[in-house]
Amino acid sequence: AKRIVLAKRPKGEVTPENFRLEDYEVPDPKAGEVVVRVTALSLDPYMRGRMDDAKSYAAPVEVDAVMEGGTVGEVIASNADGFAEGDVVFGMTGWCDHAVMSAKALTKVPAGVPPTAALGVLGMPGFTGWHGLTDIGKPKAGETVVVAAATGPVGSMVGQYAKHLGLRAVGVAGGPDKCRHAVEHFGFDECLDHRAYADGKEMRKAIAEACPDGVDIYFENVGGKVLEGVLPNMNTFGRIPVCGMIAWYDLGGLGMGDGPGKDQLPRAWRTILVNRLKVEGFIITDGWHRLNEFLGEVAPLVANGTIKFTEDVAEGLENAPEAFMSMLKGGNFGKQIVKIA
Ligand code: NDP
Repeated sequence: AKRIVLAKRPKGEVTPENFRLEDYEVPDPKAGEVVVRVTALSLDPYMRGRMDDAKSYAAPVEVDAVMEGGTVGEVIASNADGFAEGDVVFGMTGWCDHAVMSAKALTKVPAGVPPTAALGVLGMPGFTGWHGLTDIGKPKAGETVVVAAATGPVGSMVGQYAKHLGLRAVGVAGGPDKCRHAVEHFGFDECLDHRAYADGKEMRKAIAEACPDGVDIYFENVGGKVLEGVLPNMNTFGRIPVCGMIAWYDLGGLGMGDGPGKDQLPRAWRTILVNRLKVEGFIITDGWHRLNEFLGEVAPLVANGTIKFTEDVAEGLENAPEAFMSMLKGGNFGKQIVKIA
């Protein structure tokens, strides 16, 4: 079998040298274990954080260990009750084409949707968008929400679910094609191309125009100039679920004052005070108790086409590093997955 391990930790941007494709032998399943043939790997921004040896909410991947990742696959041998050959399952197998897994660590993929939906719209990213918007954003009909990475699995869920609840949804995405897709496919009211604005100041003007009633919820996915542009447009008692800040992931660490945007910090802090904003970071693993509620509510909306999803499919495990590096820079058009032969 084949797998991809972390060859060495990145310094700043991820490069191909950070990964190594290697052969390994799949052990026989012990009692309670099954063998999974992986059919699709999910590539997610959080994996960038796992490559750094810095304090975070989860342990880093060790050097020479398999890269962490969620996959869907087919059970090809079972030594566990409740699982049989042919079952389609989701699990955190890592970047590999075969894995032995404890049956307890696997969930069966529901029938009626393509299995890869378990990696995106009905998986961790879709759930993240739904949980952050509803539990932290506290959306009310008629309010305005702004979210960047609007065509990705998190942002597209935020925008579509907000529209479903009767909000105005303004997206931010990289390039005219993604912006058109956000409006025409996902139903955003408007979508701004962040590449068309030189800095936070220009972004600020564009946000003001797209949000004539101000911004009530900023679902934070990216940081950078989008954050700089949205923050001054927040309405009083606005909410900011802080989900991610992909524009700053290569900075690593938890230090302060040593990255871009440091001059903005006093102003940002003052804006939070003066506008009585609620800014709340969250990590989806803390929200798992609501997963069944999410699936109960959103799976039917996906099945009947109310909530749509877009996938960007790379082919072959060996191409996962390249697809991952590209995704971190916005090269993906929709949820990035890798089909494994
Ligand atoms: P996406 O599929 O949307 O991929 C990431 C996207 O980020 C890129 O396609 C690109 O979109 C955008 N991006 C990259 N760099 C920049 C930049 N400098 N400025 C603006 N946008 C940029 O990812 P996901 O939907 O999976 O994740 C979205 C966010 O949610 C990430 O920050 C991720 O870390 C976070 N997340 C957090 C979780 C939590 O538990 N807190 C769980 C899951 C995800 P474009 O080209 O449109 O700019």
